[in-house]
Amino acid sequence: MIHTHTYDALVVGGGGAGMMSAIYLSRTPGLRTAVISKLYPTRSHTGAAQGGVCAALANLEEDHPEWHAFDTVKGSDYLGDQDAIAAMCEEAIPVIIELEHMGLPFSRTPDGKIAQRPFGGHTHHFGQGPVRRSCYAADRTGHMILQTLYQNCIKQGVEFYDEFQVLDIITADDGRCCGCVAYEVATGDLHVFHAKAVEFATGGFGRVWSITSNAHANTGDGVAIALRRGIPLEDMEFYQFHPTGIYRLGILITEGVRGEGGILRNDHGERFMERYAPTMKDLASRDVVARAISQEIRDGRGINGKKYVYLDATHLGADVIENKLPDIADFCRTYLGIDPVKQPMPIQPTAHYAMGGIPTDAQCRALSDANNTVLAGLYAAGETACVSVHGANRLGTNSLLDLVVFGRRGGIAMAEYCATADLPKLPKNPEDFAREQLERIRGVPKGEPAARLREEMQDVMQDDVGIYRTNEGMANALAKVRELKQRFAGVSIVDKGTRFNTDLLEAWELSNLLDLAEVTALSALNRTESRGAHMREDFETRDDVNWLKHTFVTQRNGEMEITYKPVTITQFQPKERVY
Ligand SMILES: Cc1cc2nc3c(=O)[nH]c(=O)nc-3n(C[C@H](O)[C@H](O)[C@H](O)COP(=O)(O)OP(=O)(O)OC[C@H]3O[C@@H](n4cnc5c(N)ncnc54)[C@H](O)[C@@H]3O)c2cc1C
Repeated sequence: MIHTHTYDALVVGGGGAGMMSAIYLSRTPGLRTAVISKLYPTRSHTGAAQGGVCAALANLEEDHPEWHAFDTVKGSDYLGDQDAIAAMCEEAIPVIIELEHMGLPFSRTPDGKIAQRPFGGHTHHFGQGPVRRSCYAADRTGHMILQTLYQNCIKQGVEFYDEFQVLDIITADDGRCCGCVAYEVATGDLHVFHAKAVEFATGGFGRVWSITSNAHANTGDGVAIALRRGIPLEDMEFYQFHPTGIYRLGILITEGVRGEGGILRNDHGERFMERYAPTMKDLASRDVVARAISQEIRDGRGINGKKYVYLDATHLGADVIENKLPDIADFCRTYLGIDPVKQPMPIQPTAHYAMGGIPTDAQCRALSDANNTVLAGLYAAGETACVSVHGANRLGTNSLLDLVVFGRRGGIAMAEYCATADLPKLPKNPEDFAREQLERIRGVPKGEPAARLREEMQDVMQDDVGIYRTNEGMANALAKVRELKQRFAGVSIVDKGTRFNTDLLEAWELSNLLDLAEVTALSALNRTESRGAHMREDFETRDDVNWLKHTFVTQRNGEMEITYKPVTITQFQPKERVY
């Protein structure tokens, strides 16, 4: 059965980015807005964010948006677009104050201001040493942001379609985006949502890798749908590995632990970051620290020769750990059976954050090519989007900032667009493509389980498209992912029912992960340099002459086409990066 709904604006995703857009859309009188989310909104991955959200508030020491912009550009290994970065760092200050006024319970300084702590790569005076820039609510910052935004959405009367999984976007005959098709998880019914504007805020895709900090639901649906509909994906070779995930589980230990003074140590007890980053040490940017940990492990200095090192917070004292890092203490006790007040934490790098995604301009409008052509009616914000403010490597706390700044910008831009645009006519049977995808999966009588393919994909991506990359490894991963894509045609599911059929949806999500794994491996293999999170052992240095440009991959008739877009450089000329 098909249900049809008509709105002015649709937001797909109830995480931080989506709800910030919805709040802004709902402030425009008369504008009909709905948020569609496969999860209940407060279960979105934003709620797992621990460490903080940054802004140069200067509550504890001198700081400026310009210093923040410099750190972000340097952190991005000069691949971030500097106009968008400058805007984000300027708007950080009013947006954080707005969140506070919405009711967000930030931790406080003794005199009642928003508390701030240091984070990797955030410095004073353009790289002279760490600065306290991250605003936090203990180690539950994302949880507090998500709850605050949800409460404000409810207050403003935003309509939610919870547990509706979007499977496709709808394009009108004139090329404008005019809605999306969603699957109602509880009933198995398809719904056509018809609207003038659609924003994708569907989060990241860490589930491509086997060791990840990301939730089970982070399968990159929005990014994969865009790819299938001929929209390019930008800079997919840049995927961030966070230095400190719990050994073997990948669960994140926030950088806030190092922000509070935690230290990384190898098997000899050595504080090895002093060798890799003499100024910033344990608070160098994430790509640098993750590589250093991997190097220590490769050189046999992992703890007892194994694939982990220690994050030591024992010198911080029970007071700091219990009050400023309560959830981390809890995770360690629950998952590791260790007490971080008394024992060091065994950690290894974990797949964490997509710098790449759907290309947008600074108004969150999706781009349909590398020449900045705007795709009317489609928007993207948050981890799904590539503006690009993070370039080749994101700094900690800049993602939550990206969500609120660009979530807000997306909401404003959509409201303005809806004020003048008419509602395009729906094409005939817009739900066909979505239905075909599900029916094809449902129709395979006997075959391989999706979980087997997912595991094979995750293993090869972890081994060959991880922190250190080689031509041979990436070529192997690309071939393997392509083989898995073929085998996907023979995947069968056990549950053939309609109600809460997670078996079916997880198989569909696997098709998304496979597409994104392919584009990631292809983009990585194509880029013959090392920059930010993309580290090649056969091309060890950054090559600004040939590679100071964004990668765009577009799928046309089953083939992947690669084009490039220049980086916007305004204030800060590329320099060698040392911490
Ligand atoms: C453990 C962890 C800790 C982190 N800590 C920090 C931190 O301290 N500071 C920081 O700046 N960043 C941090 N990050 C990164 C940051 O939290 C994420 O990048 C950010 O929260 C992503 O927000 P989002 O709104 O883009 O997506 P999400 O919060 O992931 O929300 C995605 C939404 O899209 C919906 N959705 C997805 N697919 C579909 C579909 N097909 N149909 C309908 N709905 C769909 C989901 O239901 C969900 O509501 C952390 C990330 C992790 C994993």
